[in-house]
This record gives sequence, C-alpha cells and structure tokens, in this order.
Amino acid sequence: MRYPCVIRSKHFPPKPFGGISLFGLIIFREDNWVTPREVRHELIHFRQQLEWLFFPFFLLYVLEFLWHYARLRHWGRAYMAISFEREAYLNDHKEDYLRHRPLWANYRKLKK
Ligand SMILES: [Zn+2]
Repeated sequence: MRYPCVIRSKHFPPKPFGGISLFGLIIFREDNWVTPREVRHELIHFRQQLEWLFFPFFLLYVLEFLWHYARLRHWGRAYMAISFEREAYLNDHKEDYLRHRPLWANYRKLKK
C-alpha cells in the first residue's frame, strides 16, 4: 500500500478534530501531539477513501452523518455512528489492522 503525505497545519482541521485524511493527504494540527493510534485512525480513513475512489466516500460520509443526526439530534453521537468512524475507532488500536482489513469493512459487521 502506498501511504499518503502527512503534513502539519496551524489551523486545520478545526478543533476539536486533531487530524483529517483528505484526498491522499493526512493533515494534523500543529498543536496536536499525534499518537501512533491517531496516525492509524487516519490511515484507515485513507484506505476507506481509496476503495471508494475518494468522492463517493465523502458523499457517503456526509449522507450517513445527516441520517444519524436526523435520528439522534446530537452532533457527537451522529459523528460516532458514521460507519467509517465506527470502523476506524474500533480498530485504530490494532497495529496490523490494515494488513488484514477486508474490502468495505465499514459496511461489514463491526466487531470489537
Ligand atoms: Zn475518524
């Protein structure tokens, strides 16, 4: 797997987010002490974006968020309910997760 470029930014992404994966770039805030887990989290998003060819990923991400927000009426819970985030948060502590990750894992049954 080819890895994206990792850069640091003073103001992006906006707080409370410490990092973001966008079109082959991973951007971390300069004031964020980046952990290996955060890097793995963003690499999982990078893999998700690759398999969805980027634009469909962002469309699905936003649609899922809107769906969950309409259901839950809570920004934080809606964010955590997005399948892409659930997969990333459930697996970002596993060092070798991306070696064994099945295709479209975010829509498979998520196990702890
Ligand atoms: Zn995430």
